[in-house]
Amino acid sequence: MSDLRVRFAPSPTGYLHVGGARTALFNWLLAKKLGGSFILRIEDTDVDRSTKESVDAILEGMKWLGLNWDEGPFYQSDSFPIYKEYVQKLVDVGKAYKCYCTVEDLDAKRNLAMQEGRKPKYDGACRERRELLEGQPYVIRFRAPQAGVTSFDDLIKGTITFPNEELDDLIIQRTDGTPTYNFCVVIDDASMRITTVIRGDDHVNNTPRQIQLYEALGFPVPQFAHVPMILGSDKARLSKRHGATSVIAYRDMGFLPEALINYLVRLGWSHGDDEIFSSSEMIQKFDINNVGRSASVFNTEKLLWLNAHYIKNGDPERLANLLLPHLSAREVTTLGGPDLMSVVKTLQERAQTLEEMADRAVFYYNAPVSYDEAALAKFDKEQLKSVFTAVSMKLADVSGLDVAGIDALFKEVCSENGWKMGQVGQPVRIALSGGTQAPGIGEIVVTLGVEEALRRIQKAQEFIAL
Ligand code: GLU
Repeated sequence: MSDLRVRFAPSPTGYLHVGGARTALFNWLLAKKLGGSFILRIEDTDVDRSTKESVDAILEGMKWLGLNWDEGPFYQSDSFPIYKEYVQKLVDVGKAYKCYCTVEDLDAKRNLAMQEGRKPKYDGACRERRELLEGQPYVIRFRAPQAGVTSFDDLIKGTITFPNEELDDLIIQRTDGTPTYNFCVVIDDASMRITTVIRGDDHVNNTPRQIQLYEALGFPVPQFAHVPMILGSDKARLSKRHGATSVIAYRDMGFLPEALINYLVRLGWSHGDDEIFSSSEMIQKFDINNVGRSASVFNTEKLLWLNAHYIKNGDPERLANLLLPHLSAREVTTLGGPDLMSVVKTLQERAQTLEEMADRAVFYYNAPVSYDEAALAKFDKEQLKSVFTAVSMKLADVSGLDVAGIDALFKEVCSENGWKMGQVGQPVRIALSGGTQAPGIGEIVVTLGVEEALRRIQKAQEFIAL
């Protein structure tokens, strides 16, 4: 084990967003690569917006992606007494103070500043106050340094410097006694001995305030790596209006976790021209210093391409298990039908998602109740009847043939009757599956079983005779 300690710290106010998942992934990868620890912390100090459902959804998303954590989940709401203790410590040494300014006072001052074209900033009215106002409500503010700069070397963005005069005295405890967000983060990251903070770059502006707090409390300051945002195709921050943003929605749309992980790792990080990474390759090759500085655009086409790759190369037994809920959603039961693993093998070559695969698997279990009539109409009725009769006679004689054997048998039917493969294969495919979008004819017959194939050809024969 190395000393590296990283964390993913979601606020449980919604589902696990793909952007959050990528942040979690980068943390996980670094921990795995360097033999460090990956900690999960639920930042639920905003009690009004945090929900148990959201915590569950985040944990479900993490588990589905395989982003296993070494410690936690820890809940900030369990640490309120500890935050209070540290607030008191700062007050005791004069690094924090009670501020009695009312919201109305502060609003009036802010409005005046804006009218006069000044940047609104707390004016320090209570900073040097000596007397305590008994019985009056107060917040506690951090006594921030007023001169100099606060600077850090971001592992992704390089050196970032903030003049201290731009940072006002942060409220660390509200009137109701609850600690504020930036304060809790510092106490937690310090007490969890986090060495590297990897998070979204929407937190860059919080970082100087947090660094000042670390220094005031005498805690070592961790390293920071701020990951650029993910954008939609219109270059606006990725949101629901661009399509699905929840990890679990991608699962439900039939994406494989390894495809989403592979997609996310390449959003902002690259290793030469490589596109396909197994998780061990990712761990081996990942380097936080190679994460790009600019935002990345979410590209669903590429995600589909990766998903198709992983479906095509996936283990049929595992895919069969993953396919089951998608079949149930279509009210398809596989009981008494062909072996699902064999079905998967006939479909995995061409399906981009498990949803698509499920759509294409339905005919194996539910015999067609209607046919693609436009496709059937391309053939002469009498010709169709002769094809179905010839094929049925051939099939009735066989047993135990494999795909190549069945394909050869169809070739025989063609040569014996002077037909082209298209004249035979396509009508039979329609008879067996209802349409033309189906696997090879030999594959279908072997997977359905010859008996069931014969039944379906018979039904089609009856249908065209009507
Ligand atoms: N809870 C914060 C968020 O969900 C993350 C804070 C951090 O990583 O420091 O955006």
